Amino acid sequence: MTDRFAAADLLLDTIPTFTNPRSEEMNTRIARDGDAIVTYTQAQRATGDMFGWAAEALLPFVDFEHARPLLFAGTTQEDWDEQYPPDQRTAEDVRAEAMRYLEFAVGKVTDHRGLSAERSIIKLRALLWLLGLDDAIASMDAAEYTNYGAPKLKVVAEALDAPWPDDSRLARMAAGLPCGESDYECGCGR
Ligand SMILES: [Zn+2]
Repeated sequence: MTDRFAAADLLLDTIPTFTNPRSEEMNTRIARDGDAIVTYTQAQRATGDMFGWAAEALLPFVDFEHARPLLFAGTTQEDWDEQYPPDQRTAEDVRAEAMRYLEFAVGKVTDHRGLSAERSIIKLRALLWLLGLDDAIASMDAAEYTNYGAPKLKVVAEALDAPWPDDSRLARMAAGLPCGESDYECGCGR
């Protein structure tokens, strides 16, 4: 057992890394415009996002004009701006939402929730894309989708410079190894 844990530590060093662009501009302006956002959500839908999770993640940051094709008929600009205030559509707001969602997603991974994990990956990928973190997206796509997406979430945490729980089970899962629990139904490695 000890050897297996040592192997996990080694594997952690092999997770893809990327540079994390930081600038004043990134804190004020969203990297994508409304048209690009609509195109992204439609492309995601065409390639497996059957519940529209990418749109759910991105729409709060889209102006009414661009969001309209994806909304219920009858939604007005006033409804929209009241629900998602225009002054809360900055990159800083996107990053805060991604951090909040990541924390939730990591909890689902340690609880071994498969459907939640799939949703988390799609939503967090969308938010990273919105921030213009293309290198992180490439690393995320390259990371294995195993252990409820733990390796991909680790990439997200690095991209956001977000805290990552100091949990040996989670560390093994992020390295693509089973969590190591044997006393309950564990779906790691499937
Ligand atoms: Zn497990």
